[in-house]
Amino acid sequence: MKIGFTTSFPVEIIFAAGHTPVDLNNIFITGNAKKIVEDAESGGYPRNICSWIKGMYSVVLASEIETVIGVVEGDCSNTHSLMDTLKDQGITVIPFSFSYYRNKTELEREIKKLEKHFKVEHQQVLVVKKRLDKIRKKLVYLDELTYIENKVTGFENHLWLVNSSDFNGNPDDYEKRLDNFIAEVEKRQPLKFNLRFGFLGVPPIISDLYDFLLEHSVNVVFNEIQRQFSMPYLENNLTEQYIRYTYPYSVFDRLEDIQIEIKKRKLDAVISYSQSFCHRQIDNILIKKYVNVPVLTIEGDQPGELDARTKLRIESFLDMMMY
Ligand code: SF4
Repeated sequence: MKIGFTTSFPVEIIFAAGHTPVDLNNIFITGNAKKIVEDAESGGYPRNICSWIKGMYSVVLASEIETVIGVVEGDCSNTHSLMDTLKDQGITVIPFSFSYYRNKTELEREIKKLEKHFKVEHQQVLVVKKRLDKIRKKLVYLDELTYIENKVTGFENHLWLVNSSDFNGNPDDYEKRLDNFIAEVEKRQPLKFNLRFGFLGVPPIISDLYDFLLEHSVNVVFNEIQRQFSMPYLENNLTEQYIRYTYPYSVFDRLEDIQIEIKKRKLDAVISYSQSFCHRQIDNILIKKYVNVPVLTIEGDQPGELDARTKLRIESFLDMMMY
């Protein structure tokens, strides 16, 4: 059975139960995203609601997905209503919560609840974790090829890391393709660029952002949230892994990780991306306050290419960086 989900959660449980997890965001953004958003609006979703939410809603209704795991605490303020509207359409919805307080006992309880729902033993889940960690180790290496060897573009880094949320539903195939990609990249000459940027925030809905930056001699060598989806810490147990995963907790937890990576990756500046109508825009107040390199905030609304205004803002920021 295909099980949709709204953001990264202990996906090991779904694989252990013999089902295929499907990250709804990835299906949305790789499909006819504009049309998918329009479909949700035709179904009554308001104009001033984030496109990702509308995308996930339409993707479920247009697919054979009958069950969706919604992360109702730690992700998005809109998920409750998304789950209700899906339920109304006959979809089975299963809530999962990351405690605001980053509490291990509460997380363990959520994990056990999900294991019980899918009738899997924790031992089976750990076997899957070990299998996925073998791939995750390779992603850590891919990330190093990006920020140490300078052989991977920001977009390539983004794609591999963002797709590790569900391993495209097939870890074996994902690993095979990853091995081929790494072998190809190892033979490359280092990329030439002037500035090293970090990308903070949810993955962009804008399709050509990384290309535009590279055309202006900027490579993104740190994709913050995409890296979090790849579970790079390789902890021994499931609870530790999802406690260290910063995305669902407070912005201060994210900032801790961001500060370390800015230093380690020698970043010149960061782009803090947020989505129109997203509560996470408020986090930019604290990101700007505590990040100690220049920060450019940009906002994406509809899926598609960069608009002229955002291009101009990026170019002005780069001019400022050069002088
Ligand atoms: S971008 Fe913000 S509003 Fe949109 S789905 Fe993600 S958390 Fe929710």
